[in-house]
Amino acid sequence: MAGSNLVRTRIAPSPTGSPHIGTLYQALFNFAFAKKNDGKFLVRIEDTDRERFVEGAEGKIFEAIDWVSLSENESPRKGGDWGPYRQSERLSIYREYEKDLLEKGGAYKCFCTKERLDALRSSQAASKQPTIYDELCRKLNEEEIAKNESEPYVLRLKVPQEGNLVVRDEIRGDVEFDASLIEDSVLIKTDGFPTYHFAVVVDDHLMKITHVIRGEEWLPSYPKHVLIYDYFGWEKPYFYHTPNLRNTDKSKLSKRHGHASIDWYRQEGFLPEAILNFLALMGWSHPEGKEEFYLSEFTKLFDPKDLKPVGPVFDLTKLEWLNGVWIRKFPLTELKKRLLDFYKNDKETLEMFKSSHIDLLIGLSQSRMKKLSDFKNLAFNNASARDLTTAEMKIAEKLFNTLSNIEHSDWREERILNVLKNFKNTENVSMKEIYFLITGREQGLPLIETMVKIDGREQILENLKSRF
Ligand code: GLU
Repeated sequence: MAGSNLVRTRIAPSPTGSPHIGTLYQALFNFAFAKKNDGKFLVRIEDTDRERFVEGAEGKIFEAIDWVSLSENESPRKGGDWGPYRQSERLSIYREYEKDLLEKGGAYKCFCTKERLDALRSSQAASKQPTIYDELCRKLNEEEIAKNESEPYVLRLKVPQEGNLVVRDEIRGDVEFDASLIEDSVLIKTDGFPTYHFAVVVDDHLMKITHVIRGEEWLPSYPKHVLIYDYFGWEKPYFYHTPNLRNTDKSKLSKRHGHASIDWYRQEGFLPEAILNFLALMGWSHPEGKEEFYLSEFTKLFDPKDLKPVGPVFDLTKLEWLNGVWIRKFPLTELKKRLLDFYKNDKETLEMFKSSHIDLLIGLSQSRMKKLSDFKNLAFNNASARDLTTAEMKIAEKLFNTLSNIEHSDWREERILNVLKNFKNTENVSMKEIYFLITGREQGLPLIETMVKIDGREQILENLKSRF
């Protein structure tokens, strides 16, 4: 392991759009493992791909991290001893290491023009060969290189031309790659910017990262990174490639799916606690088989080597269920705070919060809510889902007469329940139908409590009357 014993982990998101749920997945594991070992968790912004750079995306990454409270120890905003933590501010560092790698014989300058590379790729594709660089410039002698010195060039990694590259993944064990299929990848581009492969190795080394926990999509790049470490003669961190999250149809949870973006979860009213709990169950299981646990508990137990390398299914229905479980855990004051925050930009709903019944409404909704966004509809929507049929109207009228017989002073939960049970038996209707007749809805708040505590006798009778 590199350097001291202090565990240092990181996430290295690229500011290329709205932050992905996968970023939180990585953040959770890296945060938890650092915490468990009294180590440090870093956020490094990998912004060297200027074509994919999106203004404002970095801010959104930190907003997401703050939302779930996975706070980092070192980052562009917090600073730290091994910064800068934004790659675009580290170009002079990469320059130094570029020279070093050339001298150590781990890389070579490539002067091939874009036209040549395009033509090469087309002819390889036409003859169904792998489209990888043909290593033309790897064969240049010193004289030829000197002749090209003033030409634009890229720096390419020298990958062994044959044999197997065996790399160690702490989840999968040894993984073998056929070297002849690995390209001499570009490490420094003509504009002087490093590519991901070069910058990630230099930075993980200089930032003293001891454990790299990152997505499986980086496994194919991993042998290139190992080569760079070896050329430099640096000790490697431990590597863990976490399984890719999958949709229920087994496809990869990608940015194209609406529910890959963290914004979507916030807008739908998922709770950060539930999201972290759910993500912790993706590829990992609690030793006692628990499904619900706090981050603090996870942090004590988690070891990335226990992750299973099989793509876990990100089942939204299960997340909704778990979110409901977390909603029910909250004391009323906390739930109210979350709801007020959730609806802070919805003036109409905020107005409703002034109702004298608001605490009761929240209390009654708590058992029925899966997401915070369910609250508005549950608590404030009095519109009937549909008109009653003629047959239903007849029963509604009978129900109205029956309920009218309950005196105002007798309008209590027990009494109403008895009356409704009788009505159900004599009229041979279900409780579900009665629910619909009284509320105009198929489902919603608990019926009897609403009839007594929220609406009251007169309101209930008035509503019922208006339906037939
Ligand atoms: N910048 C890479 C990303 O956007 C980081 C990959 C890594 O963790 O090495 O995911």
